[in-house]
Formats: sequence, structure tokens, C-alpha cells
Amino acid sequence: MVIDAHAHFGSILDFYMPENMLIQSMDKYGIDCAVVSNIQGIEFDHDKHPLAKDRLRNQIDINYAAIEFSRKFPGRIYPLVWVMPHTGGVSEEFCRFVLENRSGIYGLKLHPYLNQAPIDSALVEPYIRLAAEYDLPVVVHTASTDESSPRRVFNMAVKYPCVKFVMVHLGLYTDHEESIDLIAKQPNLYGDTTWVAPESTLKLIEKAGPDRVMFGSDAPISGPDGYSNPIYQTYLEKWKTLFNTHDYEKLMSGNAVKFFGLPV
Ligand SMILES: [Zn+2]
Repeated sequence: MVIDAHAHFGSILDFYMPENMLIQSMDKYGIDCAVVSNIQGIEFDHDKHPLAKDRLRNQIDINYAAIEFSRKFPGRIYPLVWVMPHTGGVSEEFCRFVLENRSGIYGLKLHPYLNQAPIDSALVEPYIRLAAEYDLPVVVHTASTDESSPRRVFNMAVKYPCVKFVMVHLGLYTDHEESIDLIAKQPNLYGDTTWVAPESTLKLIEKAGPDRVMFGSDAPISGPDGYSNPIYQTYLEKWKTLFNTHDYEKLMSGNAVKFFGLPV
């Protein structure tokens, strides 16, 4: 079984990811299930400008759309809740939404850059407390920029040892060394393979063991054939035969099943 632990849907700004593009891409490249979040939850553009009012979406609506998507494809699509700290927040209505839909939600997704909100800021901490209360794992975009730094995720993982965090991308646009060291140090911290070269994934497995990294791709962010990228073809095809079978199963599905509590 292959699970893509990091996929998206939704169209906004220059992102074009209709639901059927993800499903067709999964079918073509042999991906059984995907953990998805709705990119329409962004609050800022690529240049850090707040989205205009007519583009900005509502925190409950976009996440309800993710749940609806998962209902159309039972057993294939598992939704995360994309948090919108500036315009949504942990309101009473939001808490009710999470509580009422808890059985169909698999975690919270935070994008510190496209939502301009560091994970260790006062703006975001109420969401982490909510994650602790409802036992939801937290998925965090990490990169070389300050607000998305892996160190900030590490700090929150230390402060909330009962919450599991995954620093996706292992720090995008970095050599991944810092993320690998931080994950090895902190048991409730995990990584994924999204835009991560196979050599770095191997290093992470060597340092932190085989249980702390999940296959993820950002599909279908670069179109319906994103999985044909040599990085992903190495994980999907080359490693199938080259890698130790037990560890390969953990990387491609087992770790994600445990991390998100997927009913597969
Ligand atoms: Zn992503």
C-alpha cells in the first residue's frame, strides 16, 4: 500500500488543483490513499500581501469542503483542517466544527508562510492546545525562512510533548541537516519526503530510525504528473526493490497510518 501523507486540492492564486486531478494522478501512479488539505485556506499571497477580501475564504467552509471530498472517496482521501489564524482563529464555532467532525478529521495543517503565522506565536498556540485536547497531529510547512523555521516546530514539540508534529519538507530550500538533527532529538517530531532528496531521507532514517518519516509529495501541485519527478520515482519505484522491505513499508504507508490514525 502507498499513502501520500502530503497532498492538496483546491484552486486559488496560481494554485490549480481540482479534486479530480489528484484522484487521476493517484490512479495513474499507484497511490492508494492521500492525506489532503485545502490550499484555499491561505490568507497571504507569495509576496506576503494579505489576500483581497473577494479571494479570502472562510475557515469552516474550506475545511468542510475537505471533509466532503473525503466522503466522495471513502478509504482514499483523509482530510486535515487547514488553519487560518488571522481571519478564522479558534472561535467557538471552529471548536464546534472540529468536535462535530472529529471522527472524519486526521490532523491540523499550518502553513506559517502562506498564513504568515509562526507555529510558536500567540496567534497559533490556541490551535496547538486544541490539537492536544482532541488528540490531533499537527502538520507544519517548514522552510528556510524565519517564520517557517524547523527550530520553531521543535520548540513547540518540546512544549507540547503529547502532540505529534510533522515538519513537512524537512526545511524547504535547506540542506535538511537541521531538521534531521531536531527530529532525532525529539520523539514527537516527524518528517516527510515532500521535495526531499532520497539521500536526505536515508540520513534521517539512519539518525532517527525508520519510524519517523512518511512519503509525501505535495501532489498535484505541479500538475497531474507530479509523481513522475525523479525524486518521487525513486521512492515509488527504485526503492521498492532496493530498500529493506520492512522499512520501505513503514516509509510508504505504515508510519502515516500510525501518525494520523488512519483506519486502513
Ligand atoms: Zn504542501
